[in-house]
Amino acid sequence: MIKLNTLLSLLIIALISFACNKQQSYLPEKGVSFALNEYRKKTIDSIHYAIELDIPAGKSAKIIGRETISFNLNALDSALVLDFNADSSKISEIKIGDEVLPYNFVNEHIVIDSRHLKKGRNAITIDFTAGDLSLNRSEDYLYTLFVPDRASTCFPLFDQPNLKATYTLTLKTPQGWEAVSNGGLISKAIEKGKSVYRFNKTKPISSYLFAFAAGKFFKTTKSVDGCEMTMYYRETDTAKVNRNQDEVFELHGKSLEWLENYTAIDYPFEKFDFVLFPSFQYGGMEHPGAIFYNEPALFLDENASVNRRMARASVIAHESAHMWFGDLVTMDWFNDVWLKEVFANFMAAKIVHPSFPEINHDLRFLLAHYPNAYEVDRSAGTNPILQKLGNLKNAGTLYGAIIYMKAPIVMRQLERKIGAPLMQESLREYLKTYSFGNARWDDLIGIIDQKTPQNIAQWSNVWVKTPDMPEYAFDSANVVAQLRDSVSARAWEQPLQSRKVTSVGQNAFFPNSDGTGYGYFKMDPASVAYFFRNYGSGDSLFSNPVFRGAMLVNIWEGFLRGNGPGPEAFVQNMLAALSKEQNPLLVDYLLGNLQTAWWMFLSAPQREGYQKEAEAVLWQLLLKTEDKGIKTSYFRAFKGIALTDDGWKKMESLWNGKLDVKGLVLSEEDKISLAYELALKGKGETTTILNQQLTATKNPDRKARMQFVIPALSHDEQTRDAFFESLKKEENREKEAWVLDALSYLHHPLRAQSALKYLRPSLELLQEIQLTGDIFFPTRWLHNTFAGHSSPEAAEIANQFLYERPDYPYFLKNKILQATDMTNRAVKSAKVYGQNNHSASSSQ
Ligand SMILES: [Zn+2]
Repeated sequence: MIKLNTLLSLLIIALISFACNKQQSYLPEKGVSFALNEYRKKTIDSIHYAIELDIPAGKSAKIIGRETISFNLNALDSALVLDFNADSSKISEIKIGDEVLPYNFVNEHIVIDSRHLKKGRNAITIDFTAGDLSLNRSEDYLYTLFVPDRASTCFPLFDQPNLKATYTLTLKTPQGWEAVSNGGLISKAIEKGKSVYRFNKTKPISSYLFAFAAGKFFKTTKSVDGCEMTMYYRETDTAKVNRNQDEVFELHGKSLEWLENYTAIDYPFEKFDFVLFPSFQYGGMEHPGAIFYNEPALFLDENASVNRRMARASVIAHESAHMWFGDLVTMDWFNDVWLKEVFANFMAAKIVHPSFPEINHDLRFLLAHYPNAYEVDRSAGTNPILQKLGNLKNAGTLYGAIIYMKAPIVMRQLERKIGAPLMQESLREYLKTYSFGNARWDDLIGIIDQKTPQNIAQWSNVWVKTPDMPEYAFDSANVVAQLRDSVSARAWEQPLQSRKVTSVGQNAFFPNSDGTGYGYFKMDPASVAYFFRNYGSGDSLFSNPVFRGAMLVNIWEGFLRGNGPGPEAFVQNMLAALSKEQNPLLVDYLLGNLQTAWWMFLSAPQREGYQKEAEAVLWQLLLKTEDKGIKTSYFRAFKGIALTDDGWKKMESLWNGKLDVKGLVLSEEDKISLAYELALKGKGETTTILNQQLTATKNPDRKARMQFVIPALSHDEQTRDAFFESLKKEENREKEAWVLDALSYLHHPLRAQSALKYLRPSLELLQEIQLTGDIFFPTRWLHNTFAGHSSPEAAEIANQFLYERPDYPYFLKNKILQATDMTNRAVKSAKVYGQNNHSASSSQ
């Protein structure tokens, strides 16, 4: 019957087309193009969706739906385009009143000729089968996740953030299921053996924020400061739930109260519930009235660390902040997605930090944001915070370190520049002006610009709309000055601090001493030497971990630019500093840089020269430290670089339990990765180790993951080749985390020579990977592919690949340039310091 209907409509369309109707030939491209977005914004308003879905038990039975879309149309010069990113056979019938409507199904769109519509109010009713793609169905529950443009995979609509709409939802579910959505529940009834939930009409919201969940859930309702909230969850461990639930409610209550005060706007939506899922894709998703969370992030174990507890408070504050920043006022187009994220983090930090005085928040901010932002911003493939987005279907490519790491730095600078009171005043005006509407970054800049004599628009042009990082050095007057901007004459305005120390008649200069400035701060060799000489001294400057962190970041950036005495001296400095460092965040940072320098910048003979010493230092520190977290960090670093017979034996005895290091607790994951390293670095028969580990591994998910990864570790090159070949099939890339594990061994520096032949095919797969994978997968695929390669041959393969493809997609080209930045720097460094990286890889 469905097919017949489709045929009939095609026939009608064919006839109309024959009558030379221009509109019917309109072919919207896949996704939502910026042009379609703008046209619809101009011509459609006051949208309401009334949606009914009949949800059966089980994860594969069809969900039958009917919706009525009503809206005002103020132009009839073009066909009406609805988005439905599903098979056309899922549409049963489209009607206006009693009249069946002909339509065309083109590139995931329903196209309706405007002759069937009128200026003013229209109402279209569609019978359809819901698409499953974004319904996350399990046997006894399901939930939607429609961000960024995925509502249209479920039902037909205008799927763009600036066409806010009201929704009324009716869900029929199996009896015994709960149901929750953005609107409050009006009624629950039993009809024909099913539960029928009717939800109240929502406030105007963007389509990516519309949400519902249904299934078997436990629930708890509590009143927090006069606001009634319901928590839905799946956790069966009642003790765990009881231990956590009061705190979870209180954290929400506290966040909402803080936000109402800061914004001077009462909580803008009808009700406030939240739903916890055992393996939700993100930490949380800010659906108004029904926030979704990853259950383990909120229900903590008994001895949860202070970091875990702060992470929980932060995710709750983050999602709560979105109710105002993102939900009440929404970006106009997804290129501004960074804005809601940066505001949510910015508010969350203000809400949560005072409750955790034992944490050094400045050091955390420094190490969590700057190094990751620089990693992209120093590369040739960097992008501005605010990017161009031609089609919503590419929204996933916008996400990355510049949005998550650089944008928060820039927002913090803006607040410092104009002052916290003016920032708050501006944000209040912004929220009030655009309530239940949409706004762009420039709208906020416009508000701020009117309140201050400073030129904020110009500042924004440099920091938000153009890429790169500025470079600074001490000038002849010993003042930190910006070096010439290589792209244009940009002035990167920011307040900078620096310190000068005079000792024994010599000056040492420390630029950006408080770590808040953004850019590359060049240091002279004498000051770097002074820094490492005095590392660990009781001097008040050197005992400040933020100062040490800021200088270590400067020195790493200098090292990557070839400023300094070279890789061997760098490795020595890192080892020496580690012996004097007790701050866990700084130990992790030093160990990370040490390992990158070790594998990417030292030649094989150089590594051999330092091998014994490095292993000995790390092992001693591992034994010596009392801190369990730091001990684990040393264990992982030791495992990463150990290569001598002695090192291999130590790892083997840790793995088989013959050696017990006091205070070092190895998880099943640790044992598995030890087995991997032993297999990779073992000279002879290592299959036994892997097989033993496979037998010992009890968790079925981890077992399956091991079976997947093991061929990538094989000493037999043909086995590795066959494994790589298998990745070309989409179904073998389904478990992306497994693939990434395998890639890091396949391309391990010790195997880089034999892995060169995988580089080009890996690049050739990238476009397909973007279509079939999660939004973060292309970046991670590239990163884990190139992270082990430091040879000129590897760099040349990537350069040649891009050279042959001048029209290669802009976003993907950037991702390649980002992923190969370290490879290119290693090649350059080898030239400068006269190493030969061709032989860097042994022939294992
Ligand atoms: Zn967010």
